[in-house]
Amino acid sequence: MPVQHSTLQRLAQIPNLSISEHTLLSRYTRFGIGGPADLYIEAADEPSFIAALHIVRASGAELAVIGGGTNLIVSDAGFRGVVLRFTSGGISNDGRIVTAQAGAELQALVDYAIRHGLRGLETMTGIPGSVGAAIYGNAGAYGHSINEVVRQVRFFDGSAIRTFENAECEFHYRESVFKRHKAWMIFSTDLELTPAPADELQSIANGILKVRLEKYPASMKCAGSIFKNLILAELPEAVQRQVPQRVVREGKVPSAYFLEQVGAKGITNGGIHVAEYHANLIYNTGQGTARELCEIIADLKSRVQQRFGLTLEEEVQYIGFP
Ligand SMILES: Cc1cc2nc3c(=O)[nH]c(=O)nc-3n(C[C@H](O)[C@H](O)[C@H](O)COP(=O)(O)OP(=O)(O)OC[C@H]3O[C@@H](n4cnc5c(N)ncnc54)[C@H](O)[C@@H]3O)c2cc1C
Repeated sequence: MPVQHSTLQRLAQIPNLSISEHTLLSRYTRFGIGGPADLYIEAADEPSFIAALHIVRASGAELAVIGGGTNLIVSDAGFRGVVLRFTSGGISNDGRIVTAQAGAELQALVDYAIRHGLRGLETMTGIPGSVGAAIYGNAGAYGHSINEVVRQVRFFDGSAIRTFENAECEFHYRESVFKRHKAWMIFSTDLELTPAPADELQSIANGILKVRLEKYPASMKCAGSIFKNLILAELPEAVQRQVPQRVVREGKVPSAYFLEQVGAKGITNGGIHVAEYHANLIYNTGQGTARELCEIIADLKSRVQQRFGLTLEEEVQYIGFP
């Protein structure tokens, strides 16, 4: 249902909301793709976020929550409804327990932990986006994921604020309970880190950042990896036998391996390209569209399906599609 004028009027009365109408979502996605949202709202604190959520839900309008837009494909037609973003980004610590609000940038949290001589997040340096989305998608890199250090997650379930301990978050590779409950909004997390020399952590982070920036230049309009990697033990035996041992890392087969076998590198469709050097990296050269992007994704999935009988699963999240 489109957003009614009366809904906008009610939202305008809530403090600490920044509201804009017919805002192009391409401004808020790293792909630089996405048509307009009826309303785009940034909420600077929990009470204003909850108040906005109640009004939007009561109005019957569609709702989507975003973070930094680094893992999103938004349709060219945009989103008929309200896009809500929680921007509160405080970070504090009590000894080795660090509390971060969901709107904080993950990189700010990584830098904070390193500065305070706390180990556990340094391998996540260079992963763009917010803390909230990192919990939602159990972000990680270089053999570690954020779930390893999460103690608790505070979230709003639509009627009350609740706290889940690590086990209740049901973390798996790029998965959490929050991905299966799209109406739950993460507000903050407590992370348990380990004391370590700050200079040692900084040097690990610097090494990782250097490699990452070569793979993902800062100006590249992309979402990192499009597809999730695959867990070797879960693949059909016939496929397992075709996978060379050298490509397996921590029990996972990079989806880039299968994509390479089907000739993905360097494919183009209008303004959307698959990187020549990485088959799981798709980017927008500037004028690409969501339609072109989705066509390439569908083409790659179908090639891998036909050749290996495998269904690749997107890591990226969609907004504004049926
Ligand atoms: C260059 C590049 C490199 C990348 N490298 C990595 C990598 O190494 N490892 C990795 O894991 N990821 C990587 N990514 C993907 C991306 O950085 C992560 O998925 C990141 O966690 C997304 O954060 P975001 O704030 O931009 O979320 P968005 O893209 O805005 O949203 C992603 C999802 O999170 C949900 N969400 C956001 N905030 C909340 C909240 N508060 N409560 C509930 N749900 C919420 C949204 O609804 C959406 O479904 C990379 C992306 C890029 C562009």
